[in-house]
Amino acid sequence: MIPVLVINSGSSSFKYQLLDMATERTLASGLVERIGEPVGVARHTVYATPTDGPAPAFLDATRTRELPIPDHTAGFAVMLDAFAADGPSLDEQPPVAVGHRVVHGGARFFEPTLITPLVEINIDELSVLAPLHNPANLAGIHAARRAFPDVPHVAVFDTAFHQTLAPAAYTYAINAEVAASHRIRRYGFHGTSHKFVSEAAAAFLGRPLGELKQIVFHLGNGASVTAIDGGRSIDTSMGFTPLEGLVMGTRSGDIDPAVLFQLQRRAGMDVDDLDDLLNKRSGLLGLAGSNDLRDIRAGIERGDERAILAFQVYVHRLRAYAGAYLAQLGGADVISFTAGVGENAPLVRSGALETLGFAGVEIDHERNESPDRGIRVISTDASPVTVLVVPTDEELEIARQTLGVSRA
Ligand code: ADP
Repeated sequence: MIPVLVINSGSSSFKYQLLDMATERTLASGLVERIGEPVGVARHTVYATPTDGPAPAFLDATRTRELPIPDHTAGFAVMLDAFAADGPSLDEQPPVAVGHRVVHGGARFFEPTLITPLVEINIDELSVLAPLHNPANLAGIHAARRAFPDVPHVAVFDTAFHQTLAPAAYTYAINAEVAASHRIRRYGFHGTSHKFVSEAAAAFLGRPLGELKQIVFHLGNGASVTAIDGGRSIDTSMGFTPLEGLVMGTRSGDIDPAVLFQLQRRAGMDVDDLDDLLNKRSGLLGLAGSNDLRDIRAGIERGDERAILAFQVYVHRLRAYAGAYLAQLGGADVISFTAGVGENAPLVRSGALETLGFAGVEIDHERNESPDRGIRVISTDASPVTVLVVPTDEELEIARQTLGVSRA
C-alpha cells in the first residue's frame, strides 16, 4: 500500500482523496464545505477495495456531518476525525505524500514542485494573477502541512502543462511594455487534465506519446481545448484567466473586448459588474437559463428556442477551435473528449466534429451514442483520425505527480 492524499482547496471548502498508488485505486474521498459559516458540512466516503481485477472502486459508505468549521485548520481536524471514525486508518497507513492542486503557477512553475517556505511565498505572490484561487489553495496547504508535518507536500499547477507554449502562442498582440509590466500573457489552465487524457489516449492506443498529434476537449462546467504535439501543449483555449476560449457553463469564452467598453460607457456597468457578467452570468446559463447541458438537452427536446440557440453557439465555437488546432498541428492523429459534457453528451461530440470529414475525422454514430463509461473509440475503423472518449481523473494525475516528486 502506498497511500497518497490529494487536496483541492477552495476559499470556503476543500475536497480530498486518498489513493493507494500501489494499485492507483481511490480508498476514500470527501468534501468539507461552508468553512467559516455558522454550520459547516463534511462528507466522507470510504470505498470498498475490490479483491481482484482492475474494477473501479465502488461506493461503500458515505457519512455526512454538520458542525461549525471556522477555518481550514479546523476543516482538516474534521477530516482526520472522519478517517479515524470511518477509515481507512491514517495511523496504520499514513500518507507517504500530500499533493495539492494549485491553480496558478505563473511563468515560474513548469513542473510539480516540492513545497518549501520559499515555494509558498511564490504561490502567494502569484495571487496577483489568480486572486480567487491561489490564496484559497494556500490556505489548504498551510492547514495540511500542520496536519501532516512529516511528509513531503507537492504543488501541482493547473498552468504547468502549458508552459511549453511558444511565444507566438502565448503572446497577446497588445502594447509590449504594458503586457510585460503586468505579466499579461496566455497561461492556459486544466493542464493536469489535458496531460492525463493525452497520456491515457496514447497508452490506450499503444502508441508512443512522442509521435502523436492530439486535440483534447475538456468540457465540464469550465471548458478548454488543447493542441498537443508529441506530449507538449502547443496551444490552448484558456488564456490569462480561465475566461477565454470556449463557451462554458456560466462563462462567455471569447468575446470582442470592445463589448466591455460599450457596456461600461453605455450601460453604466463597472469592472466588478463586467467580471460578474462574463464569468457568472454568461455561457449556457446566460443564453438559455441553465449552465447544465442536461437542461439544455431537455430544452431542445421541448423545442425551446433559447436552448437550441445556446447549443448551436456552443458547438459552433467547438468546431472553430477544432479547425484552428488541426491547422496549428498540421493535422491530428487523435481527438479526445473528457469531463462532464465531453464524457456524457454524444450530441456535443458529433456536433463539434461532423464537418471535419475533409480532415479525416469520421464519427461512428452507434459508438458515439453507446452508454459505455470507460475509455473508448467513437470514430469508425476507417477514420484516419481516431476519436476517443477518455474519462479524466485529475486526482490520480496529481497523486502520480506528487509521488514522482516525493521520490525524486
Ligand atoms: P467541473 O468543471 O465543475 O468539474 P464536470 O466536469 O463535472 O464539471 O462537468 C459538469 C457538467 O457536465 C454539468 O454542468 C453538465 O453540463 C455536464 N454533464 C454532467 N453529466 C451529464 C450528462 N449525463 N449528460 C450531459 N451533460 C452532463
